[in-house]
Amino acid sequence: LKEQRTNDYQFYSASISKSFEALLSMEADLSKARELKEFEVHYQPQTNIETGEIIGCEALLRWNHSQKGYIPPGVFIPVLEKNNQINEMGEWILQQACHQNKKWQDEGCPPIVVSVNLSAKQLHDPDLVSTVRKALKDSELAACYLELEITESMAMTNETTVLKTLQELRHLGVQVSIDDFGTGYSSLQYLSRFPVNKLKIDKVFLHENKGRNEAIVKSIIHMSHALNLRVIAEGIETEEQLKFLQSEKCDEGQGYFFSKPLPAHETKKWMTQVGE
Ligand code: C2E
Ligand code: CA
Ligand code: CA
Ligand code: CA
Repeated sequence: LKEQRTNDYQFYSASISKSFEALLSMEADLSKARELKEFEVHYQPQTNIETGEIIGCEALLRWNHSQKGYIPPGVFIPVLEKNNQINEMGEWILQQACHQNKKWQDEGCPPIVVSVNLSAKQLHDPDLVSTVRKALKDSELAACYLELEITESMAMTNETTVLKTLQELRHLGVQVSIDDFGTGYSSLQYLSRFPVNKLKIDKVFLHENKGRNEAIVKSIIHMSHALNLRVIAEGIETEEQLKFLQSEKCDEGQGYFFSKPLPAHETKKWMTQVGE
């Protein structure tokens, strides 16, 4: 394990100067990407784990760079954060997701909840509640069909302000979930204080150390239910994982086993097929 870490570190330091250049060119490209319409929002289905019915989807940002092809969000979202572009981008994603979800409803699909990831800067933005209110109003989507995903670590700074923001969002009728649950710290303390509806069990618990992690997954599910929270497992890739979650009465599931994140028109096909 120690050797592995050393290798990772060497790899990391060797790539710093390279990545600095890459960063500069990415910053230049990012500022053009909006104009060039290179950003897209894709949607990954979330299903009722017992019935397999689609009940929601997570909006995930995609950048289709004209020369470099698809660039994963884990690479460019931190750059948008650093350059204070994430709030504007976040508002665009929220608008897209709300409009798309309303469009599906207008087209006769059974109503589902769309979840949108918030970045730390968005959560701490004093205008967040009015931005969300505006997206709902512009799209005419009912608030109960929008969910916002935050992580534990985001809620750790400016707790009082965050608590107030979350209360206002809940008051609007929007749902709030804790993403990557179990990977931050102070999890339990936050659960007792923050008004959230749902926990998303991080995918590492399905993918690593099967024996120990199954015990952790079970306890998260049981704890969620004891607290009247819904619980979703992300990163479901195999039938075996699905069966385990079904037997533990996890409420919802998301992962490649059901579907990859898809462009809106394909998500719609998926929705209607599964409903039949
Ligand atoms: P996340 O919120 O934890 O999103 C789940 C990630 O897991 C997504 O990666 C998704 O494609 C991937 N995934 C889904 N099913 C499976 C599976 O079965 N197995 C595995 N191994 N992975 C699966 P993606 O789309 O690359 O997004 C990475 C991260 O970037 C997200 O993690 C989120 O933190 C961030 N992100 C993506 N879109 C947005 C956005 O619109 N706004 C913000 N603020 N962050 C975003
Ligand atoms: Ca998420
Ligand atoms: Ca996650
Ligand atoms: Ca994550």
